[in-house]
Amino acid sequence: MSEISTIKRLLINMHCCRCKSEFDENSIKIMRSEKGLLVFQVKCEHCKKCFGMATLGIGAQELENSLEINEKAADEGLEPINYDDVLDAHNFFQNLDENWSKYIK
Ligand SMILES: [Zn+2]
Repeated sequence: MSEISTIKRLLINMHCCRCKSEFDENSIKIMRSEKGLLVFQVKCEHCKKCFGMATLGIGAQELENSLEINEKAADEGLEPINYDDVLDAHNFFQNLDENWSKYIK
């Protein structure tokens, strides 16, 4: 399931905003995967805080492309593209919090 591996790569540099633990593959659960819409849940394995994250208007392929650009920049020793630029992921963490589920109803 390519979406999961893509999300793992997206989250590898991210951490729980409460306890600062890094996420791992057990932290991620795909809730919904459609063309142009990917919704997944992230739960901190350390403090059990549950986050929601939705990638509205972006599909797994777009996500993959963004990550490839990022990795290419890193390989060349350039400043990596900030993941916030791709998904604004930290804003999702901040804004969705426990209320994330309303986005997948
Ligand atoms: Zn945590």
